[in-house]
Amino acid sequence: MARATDERRSFMHIRALMAQTSEGLIATGPAGEVRVFNETAQQLLGKSRDEVVGKPYHALGEPKLEAAIERIMRPRARRDPQRVRLTREDRTLTATVAPYMCGDDRAAVVTIRDDTALEGYRKQAEAILASTGDGLIVFDPDEVVTYINPAACDFIGVKPKSVLGKRKSLWDLLDMVAEEGFDPAYDGSQVREVRLEKPAHRILDVRTDPVLDESGGYLGFVATLHDVTAEREVSQMKNEFVSTVSHELRTPLTSIKGYIDLILEGEAGEINDIQREFLSIVKENSDRLVELINDMLDISRIESGRIHLKVQPLDLADMAAGAADTFAAVSEQSGHRIVLKIPPDLPRVAGDRDRVGQVLLNFVSNAIKYSPEGGVVTIRAKLEDDMVVMSISDQGIGIEKADQKKLFTKFYRVDSSLTREIGGTGLGLSICKSIIELLGGRVGVRSTPGKGSTFWFSLPVARKDLVRTPALEGAGVGGRVLVVDRNPEVANLVETYLVRQGYEVEKAYSSSEALVKARELKPRVITLDVMLDDGDGFELLQTLKDDPETADIPVLVLSIVCDEGRSCRMGAAGYLEKPIEKSRLLTIVNDLVGSVASPVVLVVDDDRSIVSLLTATLKTKGFSVIAAYDGAEAMAAVRKRKPDAMLLDLQMPVMDGYQVIEAIKTDDELRDIPIVIMTAYQIDRSRTDILGMADTKVDKPFAPEELLNRVEALLASEPKEGV
Ligand code: ADP
Repeated sequence: MARATDERRSFMHIRALMAQTSEGLIATGPAGEVRVFNETAQQLLGKSRDEVVGKPYHALGEPKLEAAIERIMRPRARRDPQRVRLTREDRTLTATVAPYMCGDDRAAVVTIRDDTALEGYRKQAEAILASTGDGLIVFDPDEVVTYINPAACDFIGVKPKSVLGKRKSLWDLLDMVAEEGFDPAYDGSQVREVRLEKPAHRILDVRTDPVLDESGGYLGFVATLHDVTAEREVSQMKNEFVSTVSHELRTPLTSIKGYIDLILEGEAGEINDIQREFLSIVKENSDRLVELINDMLDISRIESGRIHLKVQPLDLADMAAGAADTFAAVSEQSGHRIVLKIPPDLPRVAGDRDRVGQVLLNFVSNAIKYSPEGGVVTIRAKLEDDMVVMSISDQGIGIEKADQKKLFTKFYRVDSSLTREIGGTGLGLSICKSIIELLGGRVGVRSTPGKGSTFWFSLPVARKDLVRTPALEGAGVGGRVLVVDRNPEVANLVETYLVRQGYEVEKAYSSSEALVKARELKPRVITLDVMLDDGDGFELLQTLKDDPETADIPVLVLSIVCDEGRSCRMGAAGYLEKPIEKSRLLTIVNDLVGSVASPVVLVVDDDRSIVSLLTATLKTKGFSVIAAYDGAEAMAAVRKRKPDAMLLDLQMPVMDGYQVIEAIKTDDELRDIPIVIMTAYQIDRSRTDILGMADTKVDKPFAPEELLNRVEALLASEPKEGV
C-alpha cells in the first residue's frame, strides 16, 4: 500500500513538473492512444484533456502533426525527430515528433514550442534585408545558399527558390550573367568589380565577408552586391568630357605656343624689350595652360584606364642624376643645392621610364618650389624588402598634419598666402600617386611645418627576366620631310622647326595630296596628323605601308588623340602628341632619318661613361647608336632592330659578353652582325672558343678613334643588304 502511495506521489510530481514547462508535451502509447497531454499543450492546441487523453491521436485535430506521428510510429521508420510547423492566424508553433520505446513497442513523443516571437524577429530581419538596395547572398561553409534578398535576385535575375538550399558558389551565380571574359579567380581583394550583361547591363561592386559566431567559428560568408553602374557611367562621361575639351584646347594652343616661340627667337624680325617682356608673359601663361591641360588629360587617362605603361627595368640612381641635371639651372638660380645619397648597389626597379621620371621631377620641382629660402634638396634611395624607396627631402615651408592626408587628392593645395603666391594646379601629386600605384608602389609624405618635407615613393625591384629594350639615339642629318596636316598653321610651324634643322620640307593638306607626294618625292620621313578632311589619317598610313613604293618611309604620327598603340600597330615609326614640343619632334625626326640613312652600331657595356663616350664619338662620324648596359638589353635591342655592328664588353651583369656572342653567332638570322670585343680583363680561357666567333678585339683602355677605325673597316669589308 505504501508503495502504491509512493508511485502515485512521484506520478503527481511529474505531472506537476510537466504542467510547469513552457513547451507542450504529448505522448502516445503503442496503440496510438494519447497518454500525456500537458497544460501547455492544451493551451497551444486549444483542446482539453478530456477531448484527447485516452483517444487515438487523430483526436488532436492537427492533420500535419498526425501525419508526422503516423510516420514516426511505423515499425522500422527512421528514428530522427521530425519537425512540423503548425501555423495559426496569430502564432507559429513548431512541433518536434520523436519515437520512444514503450516496453517493446514504438510510440511517439511530441514537444510543441511557441515560435511566434522568434518568427516575428525573423520576418523583421528579412524585411530589413529585403528593403536594402544592395544585394545580399548568404552562404554556409559548404557554399550552400541559405539566404538571398530580393535585390540580389533582381541583379542576377533568379528566383529565390532556384538557388536557396543549392550548392552554388558566388562566382557560379555571377558567371551566369557576367560579361564575357569574367575571371572568377580570387584576386586577393575583398571587393571587386563585376560587369553584368544580363538581365540588365550593370556594374556591381561585389564584396565578400566571412560570418563568424561569438567564439570565432566560421559560419559561412555573406556577399554584398552594390550597384555602381550610375557612378561609373557618370565618371566615364566626365572623363570623356575632360578629354574632349582638353583635345579641343590643344589645337589652338599648338599654334599660339609655337608662334610665340618663333617670335621670341627672332624669326619674325627684331622685337624690342617691352615686346619681349609682354610676349614672355604670354608664353609663360600658355605654358601653364599646356601644363594644366596635360595634367587633366593624364588624370582622365588614368581614371578611365587608358594609360599605357611600358614597364622595364629602371636605374633609379641614373634617373635621380638626370633629375638633378634637369634642375641644375633652376636650383642654381633659386639658391638650392641638390644632393644625391644613393647606395651604389641599388637594384633596378620595374617601372615606366617616362612616368617615373614625371613623378621624380614633380617631387623635386615641388621641393624647390615650396622652399622659398633655398636650402638643400636631398634625394635618397634604399632597398626595403623587395621594394626600392626613393625619397626627396627639402628644408622648406613644411605641411601641417591635417593637410598631409589630403595632399594626394585632386586639386588639393594647402591654403596659405605663400602657396597662393607660388601658384599651381594641385593635380601633380594626385597624378604621381596614381602612376606609382599603377606600377605596384606606394607614395607618402612626412613633414614638419616650418622645417621641411620628405616625399617618398616605392617601386618593386625588377625581376631578373625583365629587360629594357634600348632604342636608337638621335643623329641629325638633313633630307626631305613630308609634313601632312590639314591645318596650314600647324604645318607651317612644323616646317619652320624642321627647316631650321637643315631639312627640306614639303607640305600636304589632304590624304590624296599626301599620297601623291609620298610616291613622287620619296621623302625620308613623313609627319602625319591623323585628322584629315578627306579621310582618316590611319587609312592613309595603311595605304602607305601597303604600297611597296612607300612602305619603307618612316611615318611619324602627330596627334592630339592618345592613340600611340594604334599608330604603332599600324606601322608608324614614331608617335608624338600635340601640342608639339620642338625638341621632341627634332629628336624623333633625326632618329628616323638616322635609322634609314646611317649604319647602326649597338654599344654594349655596363660602364655608362664608356657607353656615352663611344656614343658621342660614333655619332660625330654619322653612325646611329643604340646603347645597352648588359647582355640581356643588348639581345632585346638586337631582336627589335638588327644593328650593322656591335661593340661588346665581356664582363657584364645579368648576361655577359660571352653569352651574347654565343647567342648571336649561333643564330642564322643574326650571325652576320660583326662583333668587336672590348675588354680590359683577363680572358676566360675556358671560353676562348666563343671568343673565336667574334670578329675583332680591342683592349681597354683604347682610343675611341682606334675603335672607330675597326668598326669602319668591318663595315666596309662586309657590305650588307639594306644599308
Ligand atoms: P601644385 O604644386 O601644382 O599645387 P601638387 O599636387 O604638386 O600641386 O601639390 C599639392 C600641394 O601640396 C601644393 O599646393 C602644396 O601646398 C603642397 N606641397 C607639395 N609639395 C610640397 C613641399 N615639398 N613642401 C610643402 N608643401 C608641398
